[in-house]
Amino acid sequence: MKTCTRCKKPYPDELFIGAKGGEVKLCMYCREKDGERKRQYYAANREKVRERKRRYYAANREKLSASQRQYRKANREKHSERKRQYRAANREKVRERKRRYYAANREKIIMSNQRNTEERRKHQANADMEALFPGMLAAQITSNPQ
Ligand SMILES: [Zn+2]
Repeated sequence: MKTCTRCKKPYPDELFIGAKGGEVKLCMYCREKDGERKRQYYAANREKVRERKRRYYAANREKLSASQRQYRKANREKHSERKRQYRAANREKVRERKRRYYAANREKIIMSNQRNTEERRKHQANADMEALFPGMLAAQITSNPQ
């Protein structure tokens, strides 16, 4: 049994367990009432709440975007670190997954590789041409816009 700090009534422990299983000082009924009050307040003051938020963002745009940037950066680093660790710990699994992906998408992968090679070859040919006959390609393009 525990005593609620607001209504001062004793209730069994399970009425004090929060969403994350942490320590809660209010009984379930008081917490429900709190939530209901918040909902009602928000419903009655929707415009006011929105306007306050909007003004807060406008006034703190610089600060907020800076902290958002930092948050994103910190998380990107954390994220890539996690990925790296995962790969290191699951080297075999990752390799197997790649192998299976390749087996299932062989045609597609080969096609796309071929396309890339062709593109590269075309670029290389253009570059070679440009090296041999400087300005010729540009002249061709301007005289033949298609
Ligand atoms: Zn209570």
